[in-house]
Amino acid sequence: MDFTEEQINRYARHILLREVGGEGQGKLLNSRVLVIGAGGLGSPVILYLAAAGVGTIGVVDDDTVDLSNLQRQVIHGTADIDRAKVDSARDTVAAINPDVTLVPHITRIDAGNALELISQYDLVADGSDNFATRFLVNDACFFAKKPLVSAAILRFDGQIATYNPAATTADGEPAPCYRCIFREAPPPGQTPSCAEAGVLGALCGMMGSFQATEILKELIGIGESLAGSLVIYDGLGAEFRKIKVRRDPECPLCGDAPTITDLSIHA
Ligand code: ZN
Repeated sequence: MDFTEEQINRYARHILLREVGGEGQGKLLNSRVLVIGAGGLGSPVILYLAAAGVGTIGVVDDDTVDLSNLQRQVIHGTADIDRAKVDSARDTVAAINPDVTLVPHITRIDAGNALELISQYDLVADGSDNFATRFLVNDACFFAKKPLVSAAILRFDGQIATYNPAATTADGEPAPCYRCIFREAPPPGQTPSCAEAGVLGALCGMMGSFQATEILKELIGIGESLAGSLVIYDGLGAEFRKIKVRRDPECPLCGDAPTITDLSIHA
């Protein structure tokens, strides 16, 4: 890949890294990532992917910027209140890096559009704020055979994992999917949302930056993938725990006798 003088300068700290180099930077510029949600997690994810030169960033969000978002959704500013989040995110990304195209998808991801949306990208980053979307995105990524880097936050706690049923873990076993761990969505109202229980703004930045780091590793193909691991962060205790997770042969999606064979349960 031929870089311009400006690109060599812009990405100098990446190119210096032996594990990235010009080849890795070239991969990033040619990569396409779909980010679900331009909110608390999506903001740092999009900002860091844009700064890193990920060439195409699709963003799915049908919401507008609200004053109460600004405590953590750092891609938006006060002047963006009432604008579509994808429009605000697109302007911010354009100001950071002209190499990057943000593709706005002003819609909610659903059973009808999920596969078509996801199939246009190399990797999906889930930063959604509800279980219905998390399960839909997991199932759609499984069927589309796309890696999914998924983070979640609530109050002072965060978790992150990569789901890539096409990958094998260090033990040589197929990597698990989200349903192997969480099986099905809790009944509505049982688990509080950030809107109900609150969240420390900086925690979103931490987990979203963690997510961006894992995405860049997956795109370049370096380091240890989080496929087969779940990392849990306790913000108040300032402690990380990394747990090994296995594919469940009884998983209704990726198990030996799957009962979920399409997205119709999400319709
Ligand atoms: Zn599974």
